[in-house]
Amino acid sequence: MNYLRRRLSDSTFISNLPNGYMTDLQRPDPAQPPPPASSTPAKSPTAAPTPPATSPAPERKPQPAQSTGTGFFSSITNVVKQTAASAGLVEQTQVTTPKKFKILLVIDEPGQEWAKLFRGKKVHGDYDIKVEQAEFNDINVVAHANGTCIVNMQALRNGTKVVRSFKPDFVLIRQHAFSMTQNEDFRNMIIGLQYGGVPSINSLESIYNLCDKPWAFAQLINTCRKLGADKFPLIEQTFYPNYKEMVSMPSFPVVVKIGHAHSGIGKVKVDNHTKFQDIASVVALTQTYTTTEPLIDSKYDIRIQKIGTDYKAYMRTSISGNWKTNTGSAMLEQVAMTDRYKLWVDTCSEIFGGLEICAVKAIHGKDGRDYITEVVGSSMPLVGEHQNEDRQLIADLLLAKMNQIANNEANAPQRPTTVQPSQGAGQKGDITGDGTKNGVGRPPQGCLQYILDCNGVAVGPKPVQAN
Ligand code: ATP
Repeated sequence: MNYLRRRLSDSTFISNLPNGYMTDLQRPDPAQPPPPASSTPAKSPTAAPTPPATSPAPERKPQPAQSTGTGFFSSITNVVKQTAASAGLVEQTQVTTPKKFKILLVIDEPGQEWAKLFRGKKVHGDYDIKVEQAEFNDINVVAHANGTCIVNMQALRNGTKVVRSFKPDFVLIRQHAFSMTQNEDFRNMIIGLQYGGVPSINSLESIYNLCDKPWAFAQLINTCRKLGADKFPLIEQTFYPNYKEMVSMPSFPVVVKIGHAHSGIGKVKVDNHTKFQDIASVVALTQTYTTTEPLIDSKYDIRIQKIGTDYKAYMRTSISGNWKTNTGSAMLEQVAMTDRYKLWVDTCSEIFGGLEICAVKAIHGKDGRDYITEVVGSSMPLVGEHQNEDRQLIADLLLAKMNQIANNEANAPQRPTTVQPSQGAGQKGDITGDGTKNGVGRPPQGCLQYILDCNGVAVGPKPVQAN
């Protein structure tokens, strides 16, 4: 037998076996005698297995020597099977324990710790929630048409850069997916997550649509047309796809908003025609669009936010005197929610298929009138003294949505199960800078192993073969 084992560990020998041998190896084993009544009933290969760690190892009993030829050949067959599998010549079906957790990917700044809001929380009764938090800069995504989406996340562990790979079950995006400032275009990540079918709050579709302010403003124009300017007082705005038509303005002063950026970036106050021409010449270098609005002599800014069914309204007054109240120092006060404000935010929350988290921005002029300027989505910064409460509201919203999805999955009609290699979904292992994996040996089949460069950055995926 030892000779046979040695012979069979030679993969050339295996591949030279006549066809019939390999076919025979893949036939099911001959039926075993039924187990004694006290033992656990046999399980089908697709049935959920008992976790190996918790199930006691079956007691090994000396088997009576088989006198028949079947026993001898079965023994050879087993040896050939094991050796062929280790030589990678036959596909092994791995039966793994179904994971008992859901992975929530949160894209946010490191200062906001989301994991603590989900501690002890369960999805669909018995799934824990594992929170993976990172900034856009630290993640990458690989998505396949079969719905597999692997996120690779860079993290520092004890001073070593590691890349963690996992399949997210849900995503919350709290960072701007796009800004025309340098290195802040993460729309490719949004596309990857959408391609991989990862459910999200807000929807990935809406996040992508909000990546161009004039595109979103076009929705507000529709809303204004529907409700009327009395109920939905949208600011006058003009759109220029490029600098070429920026030749004159009917009146001054105006605010020129160049491209898509945040925190007041790219917003310029222009007092006269000459300055407008100057700005147009700068826009010519940017290769982007521009909008212009009349400069409102502002008393304060208004922000109406909606998180699920929670509404809050704030006013922000500049202290430093900057015409942009989000620049320099400003005073923020919570104000009463009115029906008018509620109508604004409720109608805005319906755009792009619905925004569970959103805010409407407006300017209250010294003329006593309101001017709605913008709608923002789930990346909106939280403000004021209720930020912790707002974060909790977002967490509750996520939990409800994750539960809804899990319930839908559980109630969906089961597809007939063919023998599939285990998906590795939700399983993860850290890949250290030298490319070795921490923890659980080789990655599960269907997962991706990454080739890392000397900085520990994944430079290319390679599918992992069956063990
Ligand atoms: P944020 O990232 O904070 O949302 P942003 O980059 O989107 O800012 P805006 O909100 O459009 O920029 O403008 C910044 C500030 O400039 C506003 O908060 C407001 O105070 C002021 N502002 C914007 N448009 C006008 C306007 N047409 N008239 C007067 N002030 C304006």
